[in-house]
Amino acid sequence: GAEIFEKRKTVLGPSLFHYYQKPLNIVEGKMQYLYDEHGKRYLDCFGGIVTVSCGHCHPDIVNAVVEQTKLLQHTTTIYLHHAIVEFAEALTSKMPGNLKVAYFVNSGTEANELAMLMARLYSGNLSMVALRNAYHGGSAGTIGLTGLQTWKYPIPQGEIHHVMNPDPYRGTFGSDAAAYAKEVEEHITYGSSGRVAGFIAETFQGVGGAVELAPGYLKLAYDIVRKAGGVCIADEVQSGFGRTGSHYWGFQTQGVIPDIVTMAKGIGNGLPLGAVVTTPEIASVLSQKIQFNTFGGNPVCSAGGLAVLKVLDKEKRQAHCADVGAHLVERLKSLQEKHEIIGDVRGRGLMLGVELVTDRKEKTPAKAETIELFEKLKDLGVLVGKGGLHGNVFRIKPPMCFSKDDADFLVDAMDYAMSRL
Ligand code: PMP
Repeated sequence: GAEIFEKRKTVLGPSLFHYYQKPLNIVEGKMQYLYDEHGKRYLDCFGGIVTVSCGHCHPDIVNAVVEQTKLLQHTTTIYLHHAIVEFAEALTSKMPGNLKVAYFVNSGTEANELAMLMARLYSGNLSMVALRNAYHGGSAGTIGLTGLQTWKYPIPQGEIHHVMNPDPYRGTFGSDAAAYAKEVEEHITYGSSGRVAGFIAETFQGVGGAVELAPGYLKLAYDIVRKAGGVCIADEVQSGFGRTGSHYWGFQTQGVIPDIVTMAKGIGNGLPLGAVVTTPEIASVLSQKIQFNTFGGNPVCSAGGLAVLKVLDKEKRQAHCADVGAHLVERLKSLQEKHEIIGDVRGRGLMLGVELVTDRKEKTPAKAETIELFEKLKDLGVLVGKGGLHGNVFRIKPPMCFSKDDADFLVDAMDYAMSRL
């Protein structure tokens, strides 16, 4: 491990960051468990940043990838192949409304780039509306959509309006969705030409610290944006595929149907895969020129992606996330009663956040304590994510095979570590 760490510092770019003072060298994974070079087992509560949906090295997905790789690895879409069509059919069948056409790409950033491009071409407008505290990518285009200064390099950010975050815990208007929506309207009225290209939001902010948007917000915001000529984009890179338990897609928890949906991470259980699903009308704006992606929808990733959808259905993972998530939230809420440091427990299913504060009334971020607990949890064999602007939120988004016993182990480890702070 130490040697890899040293080499990484010289042969890889210096902007890379790592978790833990002594970073872990993970060499093997099986379902919800990871193993380091010494054979120590860890309970993975973060799944490679919400990416491993079905479980590490899930046999059905490994098999689909291996079989396809042996037969044919790559040709691009200039030739026909059954896997991309079957995958697109299966994926769009999971969508409500007229969301029936897919474009495949290789990452969440690429998916959001394409969505923004379509929004601009379809609407004939340039302005995009995004939420503060959002993460949508780090490319030259999507960096503008991202609303967290920690990720923003000083380059032109495009024509983007960052509106107030409807964050029930820290937001200025609490859970008052109408007040936040009014601010969207005012941005459009005063800050742009009165017309916009589109609006993008994660229903459950991931990087921003597992923030579930105020109930009813998306419906109001979508109406305002559509009146101003814009299309509505749901970023489901983290919240899709049944993870929230109550619904297959995060946006469904707010009772809306977007015009464009972007996906990545969990869609491939670890394969580099992203998708944009939209209506035939919106999709057709790209046919005025050529839109081509060398690896987008390649046979191997398509076979793997199809296997993911099948596993999630076969193993009834959405219902499982609801069941285990409810148990975990209940246990975390009792932990909150015991430990003053837990300011907020939030989320749904296996898309949860635990925000740590030194003062519950002032909501002062418990930055140093979060780091200390984070290290202790690792020593106890539990890996969680860390996020939020102040880095004081534990993000709990494990592979969806996570069990109630795993949930108990996680909460017991937190209890043990917090008791010794
Ligand atoms: N959208 C969301 C909500 C994300 O969390 C991320 C990645 N953290 C992205 C987009 C970008 O995805 P990628 O890293 O695959 O480009």
